[in-house]
Amino acid sequence: MGLLDELKERSGSVCELCASDLSLEIYEVPPVSTGGLDGSILVCATCKNQIENADTMNANHWRCLNDSMWSEHEAVKVVAWRMLSRLKNEGWPKDLLDMMYLEDEVLNWAKATGEGLSDSEKIIHRDANGVILENGDNVVLIKDLKVKGSSMVAKQGTAVRRISLDRENAEYIEGKVDGQQIVIITKYVKKS
Ligand SMILES: [Zn+2]
Repeated sequence: MGLLDELKERSGSVCELCASDLSLEIYEVPPVSTGGLDGSILVCATCKNQIENADTMNANHWRCLNDSMWSEHEAVKVVAWRMLSRLKNEGWPKDLLDMMYLEDEVLNWAKATGEGLSDSEKIIHRDANGVILENGDNVVLIKDLKVKGSSMVAKQGTAVRRISLDRENAEYIEGKVDGQQIVIITKYVKKS
């Protein structure tokens, strides 16, 4: 069974945020390295579009979170938390946020994208050229790097696909080189 079918089975074939049954698709909750059933939710096109385009947000649509924030699935709670954080200046989302309880680990996941923080509070990752890096970006190494704790050297020019950002340190990202997850310093990569 594919991921889409598994999500449909879990949700009863409705959007896990607003319960719409129209244009359902997979939304991989960033950072994308989580992936899979536990790291994904089933969403309708309306929800997905607004999640991915903050400037198209229709606050009233998100009153649906009143119900879905109580989901038993962590990935759903994480997205609910992020959307409520994004909308908190509307008032009612802030009240719902205050009622939400997330385990520490889940709260850290929810915070990983910096949602709801002002730009000055966000940890911004930049590559060697100052270009902003985001979870899921592809980068290229611009010098040979020794991999900590192994004899491996990641060669200059190596492509690293779908990086994830260290949410506590703007100098570090993670990615797979030769099938091994390694920590890479942002100043030695270039976004590709
Ligand atoms: Zn929806």
